[in-house]
Amino acid sequence: MKTLHYTFKDESASYYHFVEMLKEMLSLTLTNNIFLFNNQYYRQKRGVAMGVKFAPAIANLFMGMFEDIHIYTDTMYRENVVMWSRFIDDVLLIWKGTSEELNEFMKRANGNPFGIVFTGFSSRTEINFLDLTIYVQENKLLTKTYRKQTEVNSTLFATSCHFDPVKNNIPKGEFIRARRNCTDSQIFEHECTTLHNRFKARGYKTRFIKAASDKAHKITRDQTLNRTNSGLAAEKRSDIVKFITTFCANNRIIRKILRKNWHLLKLDEHIRKYIDDHPTMIYRRAKTIKSTISPSMLPEEDQHPRYTWLQTTNMGFRKCGCCTMCKHAHGPTIKFTDSFGISTMIKENINCKSKFVIYAIICICNKIYVGSTIRELRIRIREHLSSIRSQDSSLPLAVHWQLSHQMDDKNGIKFIGLKKISIGRRGGNRELSLRQQEARTICHFRATRVGLNSDNEMGVFL
Ligand SMILES: [Zn+2]
Ligand SMILES: [Zn+2]
Repeated sequence: MKTLHYTFKDESASYYHFVEMLKEMLSLTLTNNIFLFNNQYYRQKRGVAMGVKFAPAIANLFMGMFEDIHIYTDTMYRENVVMWSRFIDDVLLIWKGTSEELNEFMKRANGNPFGIVFTGFSSRTEINFLDLTIYVQENKLLTKTYRKQTEVNSTLFATSCHFDPVKNNIPKGEFIRARRNCTDSQIFEHECTTLHNRFKARGYKTRFIKAASDKAHKITRDQTLNRTNSGLAAEKRSDIVKFITTFCANNRIIRKILRKNWHLLKLDEHIRKYIDDHPTMIYRRAKTIKSTISPSMLPEEDQHPRYTWLQTTNMGFRKCGCCTMCKHAHGPTIKFTDSFGISTMIKENINCKSKFVIYAIICICNKIYVGSTIRELRIRIREHLSSIRSQDSSLPLAVHWQLSHQMDDKNGIKFIGLKKISIGRRGGNRELSLRQQEARTICHFRATRVGLNSDNEMGVFL
């Protein structure tokens, strides 16, 4: 918060409200970092949480304040500093004093009340900074790529399931980086050979590697140092509708279908205004092996409670035994196979009195209606039955009954609870997740096509 006050101290009054709002929002996010450990909630008191979006910006502001107070105002040694450049928390310093003076300067910088500690390395001939080795040759400063001694070839495997353009751009980026980093052309050639071998070892096709290498050879080092005009990219229209989906191995097929049928969307005079000539795809990150085997939240300890002889370990749907709807209860399970051919089991204990349930009503003609309720399941089922009795023409089940069955057969209707929606320890929107699960289940049963549902609300996923 001190950093914030310092940063905004000179802001003119015209920005006052904006600055105050920004301060308030930041203080909310900075002081409310809550995490869970050993079933206890903790609030982080010091520092910025790892991984938050604005962490680098705050770190920069903080270091900026630090420099203002402790470095630029250092009257004793300031004249010895030829250059002080910082990248977030790494500093490159060119010093013209003696090494004793440098040590003294470092000591002074470290004696700050913020707990910032500098560890430094100094040399008259060669120094490593970020991914560069900066060295002196014939009174000039030259650079080349720096690799840590412990570095291994961790380039993404060519066989990885990543999006193709992502993989293809890795060689390009690496070769251009080599071009930018190496001042000496001989060292650049050597670096290219190293890169070639590294990519080869990770299964990249020679064709791609060569194309990337050629591209880097064609441009000059000065060109790579020119900042690309990022403003141009930002000018792209922001109101264009994008196709956003979770990344999966089938994305190529999806893309192909979209491309093939894109012209159909272009035919519509309203939609036309909001779409590009080609579909713009954006991929959400999918589940990885890592996130599957080491989730950030461990399962609750008491997930498999021990059962006594009174209780049952059999999961599924049961009658409650004491309500008027029990006579309509279906058996404990129902086999249903989703569109991928995977059959699902009922994994909870559900009965007529369960709340937040996805249920299915099975008609005497074996057609299925899928629904959800936040109230007790029996209440919802009773409503369905009375809608049939009152011949309510707005409800799909009642309409189906009017068209296909005799009123007397009503007792043949069965219902079953399929899934109970609970919220995890991190909280969440239970009703939304209920409606999303309902939409999924309707898809699984194909209830709009072969069942009794009249429509499926997909808006709940937006
Ligand atoms: Zn019951
Ligand atoms: Zn029927």
